[in-house]
Amino acid sequence: MADQLVRATAADGRIRAIGVLSTRLTEEARRRHQLSYVATAALGRAMAAGLLLASHLKKENARVNLRIQGDGPLGGLFVDAGTDGTVRGYVNNPQVELPPSSKGKLDVGRAIGANGFLYVVKDLGFGYPFSGTTELVSGEVGDDVLHYLVNSEQIPSALMLGVFVNAEGVDAAGGLLLQVMPGPDGQEDEELANALAERISKIEGFTPMVRAGKRIPQILQELLGDWDLHIFPETQLLRFYCQCSEDRVLRALKLMGEEELLDMIDKDGGAEATCHFCNTVYQIDVPQLEGIVGQLRTEQASQE
Ligand code: ZN
Repeated sequence: MADQLVRATAADGRIRAIGVLSTRLTEEARRRHQLSYVATAALGRAMAAGLLLASHLKKENARVNLRIQGDGPLGGLFVDAGTDGTVRGYVNNPQVELPPSSKGKLDVGRAIGANGFLYVVKDLGFGYPFSGTTELVSGEVGDDVLHYLVNSEQIPSALMLGVFVNAEGVDAAGGLLLQVMPGPDGQEDEELANALAERISKIEGFTPMVRAGKRIPQILQELLGDWDLHIFPETQLLRFYCQCSEDRVLRALKLMGEEELLDMIDKDGGAEATCHFCNTVYQIDVPQLEGIVGQLRTEQASQE
């Protein structure tokens, strides 16, 4: 099953629902960064949240960055998600492992740490990114992103995020965001919000449903099927994707200047750069470095 995002409305359009299935891209992140179980769960939840937040942006090619900086041993994580359905991210200490929580679950809250901040940056491509910061609630990611959403948008919302990972890898990952939109008079529909919260409290969670073989439309059907549910037919494919390239590495090296580059040629016999986001290693050899030095000298000569 390909990773995908599904949109729906219910209750006469007053409920807005978005679901993401992100099992494959979470597995790709796990493999690329060699993430521990708890780091996989933390980053997987955050990537699903990033994709859900990005799906709110109206503009094409807009992106959302989530940075979660808690006081736990993971040392913080970063996610970059776009309206185009691409996402990438990393955890600062990917190999940290912790014993399961008292509920027998991966202890994401303790790994991230409950003391700290969630930073959200939305880049709509206008050159002035919008940013917001909220304090962490529990470090479990879902609670923290929900707290941010309710604070920044003032819309009653429910957010479910889940990652199930075992020795074979990621078996299920994704999330669901449900929001109760204000009525035509701008009034909050408290009754509807409460009824929705009641339903959500009764279901077993996102990943158990996915592991039972249910897809997003079925999950939405189960949750909202009798509330005039309308699932939009077009689904969006999601994938782990990083914009890094050898060209970008070469441009970054150029900025270091001639002296530094000559040092790399003489002392290191080349340069090695690793992309934070996707863990790709770029080996730049001496002829390539000499090429950049040549470019710098030509540019300098033409300026004189
Ligand atoms: Zn990369």
